[in-house]
Amino acid sequence: MAMWNPWRGCKKCSDGCLHCYIHKGDFKRNVDTNEIVKTKDFEKPIEKLKNGNYKMKSGIVYLCFSTDFLIEEADEWRNECWKMIKERQDCTFLFLTKRIDRFMKCIPDDWKDGYDNVVVCCTIENQKNADYKLSIFKDLPIKHKCITAQPLLEKIDIEKYLDNIELVVCRWRI
Ligand code: SF4
Repeated sequence: MAMWNPWRGCKKCSDGCLHCYIHKGDFKRNVDTNEIVKTKDFEKPIEKLKNGNYKMKSGIVYLCFSTDFLIEEADEWRNECWKMIKERQDCTFLFLTKRIDRFMKCIPDDWKDGYDNVVVCCTIENQKNADYKLSIFKDLPIKHKCITAQPLLEKIDIEKYLDNIELVVCRWRI
């Protein structure tokens, strides 16, 4: 298991963002979360050791867990990330997004019906954005789909959106 944060920072875009732990943590450290910047780990998946092996081990890679992979400010950087993801077929890249309505603008030219090694988790928090986001998500060309209800703000019914969903994770607001 590895973490990969090619950029840092995020902007609030959804009801659940009011409880964003990234903003809370950055506020304590006097860091401006709204500033989206590349990190020193941008090329982490393809960095190599002297012996030619990849530094990052095979397996699951948690991508953009301190930002959003589909954020607008990263549009010019994302294609490089897709190339690295394609190169690392020995890894499975998993990202959560609150911006699933941007998905089709963010995929590479050769995406077709999805990369085998990418898992996309659509994040919802209440019935209003579950209905909006999951009705988009269900029709998207993605090989591996999950739903994260996080932070869950109210009782929701998502049964009609569960076809082809591999996993649902819920986390009540704390
Ligand atoms: S999308 Fe996620 S990381 Fe970005 S502000 Fe909202 S809760 Fe925070």
